Amino acid sequence: MKVQRLHCQIVIVGSGPAGLAAAQAASQHCESILVIDDNPRPGGQIWRHGPQHPPTKTAAERFNVLRHPAVRYLSATRIVSAQGPHRLLLEDARHAWQVDFAQLILCCGAQELLLPFPGWTLPGVTGAGGLQALLKNGLQVAGKSLVIAGSGPLLLASAASARQAGARVVRVAEQATATSLLGFASQLWRWPHKLAQALRLVTAAYRCNAHVEQALGEQRLEAVRVRQGRRSEEIPCDYLACGFGLVPNIRLASHLGCRLEHGAVAVDQQQRSSLPQVFAAGECTGIGGSELALIEGQIAGCVATGQEDRAAALIQQRRHWQHFAEQLHKHFELRPEILKLAQADTLLCRCEDVPYAAVAAAADWSTAKLHSRCGMGACQGRICANAAQRLFHWPPAPPRTPLVPARVATLMLDTPAHDTAD
Ligand SMILES: Cc1cc2nc3c(=O)[nH]c(=O)nc-3n(C[C@H](O)[C@H](O)[C@H](O)COP(=O)(O)OP(=O)(O)OC[C@H]3O[C@@H](n4cnc5c(N)ncnc54)[C@H](O)[C@@H]3O)c2cc1C
Repeated sequence: MKVQRLHCQIVIVGSGPAGLAAAQAASQHCESILVIDDNPRPGGQIWRHGPQHPPTKTAAERFNVLRHPAVRYLSATRIVSAQGPHRLLLEDARHAWQVDFAQLILCCGAQELLLPFPGWTLPGVTGAGGLQALLKNGLQVAGKSLVIAGSGPLLLASAASARQAGARVVRVAEQATATSLLGFASQLWRWPHKLAQALRLVTAAYRCNAHVEQALGEQRLEAVRVRQGRRSEEIPCDYLACGFGLVPNIRLASHLGCRLEHGAVAVDQQQRSSLPQVFAAGECTGIGGSELALIEGQIAGCVATGQEDRAAALIQQRRHWQHFAEQLHKHFELRPEILKLAQADTLLCRCEDVPYAAVAAAADWSTAKLHSRCGMGACQGRICANAAQRLFHWPPAPPRTPLVPARVATLMLDTPAHDTAD
């Protein structure tokens, strides 16, 4: 296989709100920008689209930057490893690339936090954000009944999308208490657009202080047992979409050696990471929503291209949305009982069929992997590693290379013999 060499000033990883905003800001002062995304289409999570779901007008306008003469966009492209501080090894379905860059802007977004509970691996159970993604990719739910559960504003967004697709949303179970939700709602006047959105999305099926206890069914999901306070109720349904919030995607940052703080990439006022050549923006630096991701992306793109004055003007705006993020964290914090839903035989790692009891006594993630094969299956711990960290308070372990399953021919390029400078 022929390796292609690329040289560019700036590489941006991720084409969600943060990555697109970074590209937009940088394109005004930089002539060679490469945007990489492992998804086949741009937009990240919120602007995800598919054959029957064309991009919204806002998203389509944001995508224009990918046609800017200074920008090259590689979609469906995975990062296999970093080969030193200024080079990445990439591959797509047909090619492998070694990319040399001066600066790197990580806009890797977040992953949904899925926590184990009895029955969570039954067909018909997805994440709440996962349901959003499936609907945009064409999942048919017309006439089906759905329960949505977990925590955070994403539950209401998922419920609205499901209703729009013709589903009956019979329950939205939010684990946060009424006091927490009232506390959150009372602050929303500071973000009028968010207040309007919440009022538009809220539904009569919404319950607070409510969580899933068990997904029931033989071959696939048939019903869900939901607890609200002291009352437990069985709700028949076709789908359960259950997500307990989001966690920053720190895989690549951790592999590069960036400093992490509170489970996210640590950045300074100018979105610089602890490595001089690496910036980070958006939800990989902390969960805060698309508005914050957009501003952070802009700041990173400006600073990376020497537009510090422009960045300074954005820092005040960022504070406004950081306050919003703080409110989210405070009021949607998971209640202790949510971390105790799994039973001894509940699977934690669904790829390798590892039950909760097999890892609960382990000292850390590496020991759990060695003793049980937890996280060593097809998804390489993308789901269970986040769950295990949350359940057992284990520190995140840096990922090993290759970061993704890769062709042998590409892996051959990851040896010193192929580390050829021009
Ligand atoms: C499953 C899910 C569904 C969501 N749905 C909604 C929703 O419907 N509405 C809403 O308001 N918010 C939603 N969110 C929240 C949303 O992610 C944020 O508000 C916002 O999109 C964050 O923007 P971002 O640019 O930081 O990251 P993202 O939008 O997540 O974009 C990150 C991009 O980087 C890519 N990427 C990450 N790592 C790599 C790598 N190593 N190599 C190549 N590409 C990489 C990802 O594939 C992704 O396309 C969802 C979140 C998740 C996790």
